Amino acid sequence: MKKNKILILSLLALNAIMFAQDKGLVANLNSPYAKLKSVNLQDVHWTGGFWKEQFDIETQNTLPYMWDLYHNDSITHAYANFKIASGEMKGKHAGPSFHDGDFYKILEGMASAYAITKNPELDKQMDEAIAMFTKVQRADGYINTPVLIEERWGTLGPEELKKQLGFEKYNMGHLMTSACIHHRATGKSNFLEVAKGVADFLYDFYKKASPELARNAICPSHYMGIVEMYRTVKDPRYLELANNLINIRGVTNDGTDDNQDRIPFREQTTAMGHAVRANYLYAGIADLYAETGEEKLMENLKSIWEDVVYRKMYITGGCGALYDGVSPDGTSYNPSEVQKIHQAYGRPYQLPNATAHTETCANIGNVLWNWRMLQLTGDAKYTDVMELALYNSVLSGVSLEGTEFCYNNPLNVSEKLPFKQRWGHEREGYITWSNCCAPNVTRTLAQVSNYAYNVSKEGLYVNLYGSNHLKSETLNGEKIEVEQRTNYPWDGKIVLKIVKAPKGAYPIFLRIPGWSRNASISINQKIFEGEVASGTYAKLSNNWKKGDIIELNIPMPVELMQANPLVEETKNQIAVKRGPVVYCLESEDISKEVDINAVVLDVNSIFNTKKATIKNREVVAIEGKGYVDSENWNQALYKPITLSKKSINITLIPYFSWGNRLKREMTVWMPY
Ligand SMILES: [Zn+2]
Repeated sequence: MKKNKILILSLLALNAIMFAQDKGLVANLNSPYAKLKSVNLQDVHWTGGFWKEQFDIETQNTLPYMWDLYHNDSITHAYANFKIASGEMKGKHAGPSFHDGDFYKILEGMASAYAITKNPELDKQMDEAIAMFTKVQRADGYINTPVLIEERWGTLGPEELKKQLGFEKYNMGHLMTSACIHHRATGKSNFLEVAKGVADFLYDFYKKASPELARNAICPSHYMGIVEMYRTVKDPRYLELANNLINIRGVTNDGTDDNQDRIPFREQTTAMGHAVRANYLYAGIADLYAETGEEKLMENLKSIWEDVVYRKMYITGGCGALYDGVSPDGTSYNPSEVQKIHQAYGRPYQLPNATAHTETCANIGNVLWNWRMLQLTGDAKYTDVMELALYNSVLSGVSLEGTEFCYNNPLNVSEKLPFKQRWGHEREGYITWSNCCAPNVTRTLAQVSNYAYNVSKEGLYVNLYGSNHLKSETLNGEKIEVEQRTNYPWDGKIVLKIVKAPKGAYPIFLRIPGWSRNASISINQKIFEGEVASGTYAKLSNNWKKGDIIELNIPMPVELMQANPLVEETKNQIAVKRGPVVYCLESEDISKEVDINAVVLDVNSIFNTKKATIKNREVVAIEGKGYVDSENWNQALYKPITLSKKSINITLIPYFSWGNRLKREMTVWMPY
């Protein structure tokens, strides 16, 4: 009896140890090819400054708003679909077929916030929704309301599963990810049980499905989802499935560049097609590589990354230049074989500004992918892209008050353009038919703290700067606690105070951003003599003790940026950047008579920073001088250049904060 009791207690203790760690956004503690490991979701608390403000907006505005919105049958019908599928309510499925997945994303955001706030109301709401999922889920694990509603109330066509635009795998992918995060945040298994059913269903489905049926999924959120399930419940079948999902792509001739499956992934070296699907695919493959270490996967990911970052990504970290087009990647000249693409990567250097699609979800996909690449390699160039996208093309996806959202994130908005694009560039509370981005940005902004640090065998990695408190463990289980103070990204001074240090040498790796020059570090007021190179992690190998102070100073001058001259759309133009933040000119800050596209930047003017407040949010604005063409174009397409230009003062605001005042015009790039 006594022996049994000890055994149970020690099992409980073991369980507690296992539960104490590996509770990050990705649970890669045991992933053999992940060099850096995630810290737990609850390990990092924002304590002030930029990300604390954003996290407070998230918990006070965005999450409650989204929860209510998705329960408001007259607007979204997402929760109503679950109620109908469960038999609680009569009716038909309404809204986009990816509604389920969007609701799971909101839950993922709630779980991520709960890990930090422990707000019992969130826990209660999540349990209520999970009980509904449990009720809706079919005995074989399948869950997807468009199909289940048909099954319950009407006729389920046998063709249903074959609908490529059914988004059912996408929905199930988000369910699995959300359930893993919920399990890590709450310690509960109710959602995870639903996710196990889903993962088992998918495993069986892919075993039995015809090759055509197996290949038909789009927007592969389920690649990340199934690997995360493998990590959470350690079922090797899930890893087998993840590998199989890659193997079946592009092996017959029914695939498309738009869906990244015209050719097998192992033959792909450039970014192609729908940018959300692409970035989700690359993130999922990075997850698979973390487990299998298959060199070919990494080789292609690196090649595709170079194609994106050196040729196809906007200065804001945005991805997906084209609304619509034809694939530049096919080899055929036969017009009937040329493939259509949409919301997609275009040709190298094809980066239009006004018609940039740059869907918020694609930009979030860029963050997901680069964070995974960072953890696989420890290379700071991935952190640079992650940070760039976060501060610019992800944050631009949500209003400063946190309740209106952008589907696409153009770099130029002019009311004079004589055509309307399919999606407006004004943020909306609910984007009918395409509200995928709003729940995506909702979950992402609840999770930024988990991106801030990693641990590895070598030491602690500091990826993102912002006032926070880290309370975590080394891989040996020793306590580490660090207090970070900074006004970043408005200021480049960062102070780290050691609160609790592991015994012996435990290096701290400080990220020196790739955009920075002449950064310097001091430790307890003595200049650090080691290497401090831009675009790397500076390694500080000390025997840390309580009270040690590390100070990093990153100069943050106003930078005038130009694009590679192969980018036609930005030739002879300048974008202004300071630190990781890209700036823009908004019509609110120039005279009403002036056309935003007629403003010429005076590169010789002195650029000063000043504090500005937009919708109660303090930002740093930049003042400078420019010129404006005083002559009217009068419908002309061409005219001789005007030599006499009027001098004007201009104020630039952070790109992410555009469109929060009067909704008019904006530009990131300006001629000079
Ligand atoms: Zn989206």
